[in-house]
Amino acid sequence: MAKRKKQHLTCGCCGTYFKVWSDYIDQDQDDGFGICYSCQGLIAAKDVAEMDKAIAVFAGSLNQKNTIMWLKLPRDKQERVIHRAFEDGIMTHKIRRSHERLH
Ligand SMILES: [Zn+2]
Repeated sequence: MAKRKKQHLTCGCCGTYFKVWSDYIDQDQDDGFGICYSCQGLIAAKDVAEMDKAIAVFAGSLNQKNTIMWLKLPRDKQERVIHRAFEDGIMTHKIRRSHERLH
């Protein structure tokens, strides 16, 4: 018999007790925990915004010719370069506490 999926989880992000939806993907949290719909959406939106910022910052560090080339690259290529830049320490993340509360 297949292991029954828990129907209700506590969001590890905001602490909301929520019901899992039909295509919920397990978020690799502790037993009984998951990430609620709204937090999954918020996290994804924030990642896109962070990546937009990183792409713009990277463009600003290039000369004019390279900036044009850089901005013409497909998004997935830009993202790969950005990830590599973070790995190599060319770019750094600033960890700071957000002033906004998620809920
Ligand atoms: Zn949540």
